[in-house]
Amino acid sequence: MRRMMVAGNWKLNQGPAAGRELAAGVQARLEGRTLRGEVLCCPPFVTIPAVSAVAQGEPVLVGAQDCSDQASGAYTGQVSAAMLAEAGCTHVIVAHSERRQYQKETDDLFVAKIDRVHEAGMTAIFCFGELLEERQAGREEEVVEAQLSGVLPRLASATAENLILAYEPVWAIGTGETATPEIAQHMHLVSRAEAGRILGEDTAARLRILYGGSCKPGNAAELFGQTDVDGGLIGGASLKVDDFVAIVEAAETAMGG
Ligand code: PEP
Repeated sequence: MRRMMVAGNWKLNQGPAAGRELAAGVQARLEGRTLRGEVLCCPPFVTIPAVSAVAQGEPVLVGAQDCSDQASGAYTGQVSAAMLAEAGCTHVIVAHSERRQYQKETDDLFVAKIDRVHEAGMTAIFCFGELLEERQAGREEEVVEAQLSGVLPRLASATAENLILAYEPVWAIGTGETATPEIAQHMHLVSRAEAGRILGEDTAARLRILYGGSCKPGNAAELFGQTDVDGGLIGGASLKVDDFVAIVEAAETAMGG
């Protein structure tokens, strides 16, 4: 059985003081529990040390929302994967749709970033998903397959352990509109099949694929109940302790906990 993950993407929210408080709230609610799944919080860079000080390993892991494609050098404003690992991160989100849209990031950059994450001994969470107009044109499978085949075959050392996929239909991110469980399951199946063609069936069967897009306490159980949905990447709902913990509990229940 694949171990579920519930990962919070805090985006551009929570400075060090507010981040420490949020992480401490989640930590307090999960403290002492042996969870079946994994729980991850991904604060902004400057908040990582404050969150790492509160959450020192399981049950609450700390991740980053992005990293540089470069290892070191004259790259003003960038943060390397090795620095993030040193600061206590175990995971890094790569290719979030907001970075694809606002920073115009491309497949070449995603490949380099994921390789840097792996070199630093961390796990990359690779995001992909179709736009509303692509779904309306019936192109969602083709788009998702292209996003996966543009990156996965070029990775130097991807395994089922150091790579997690996150299917995030862009029309569902921050909109309040969630993919139905049927849509999520279908797209996860399509994604796993494409990953199988690229990485091999054995790796694909063990690879975790998270769902992201307006996942909340009211819909998490149904989404996580789908065979190929292995947890969630949570935006808005990860900023409220009660909501985030309720989503973690939905994952625990889905895993038989
Ligand atoms: C996200 O940005 O990864 C996300 C899933 O956001 P939200 O849950 O707010 O839709």
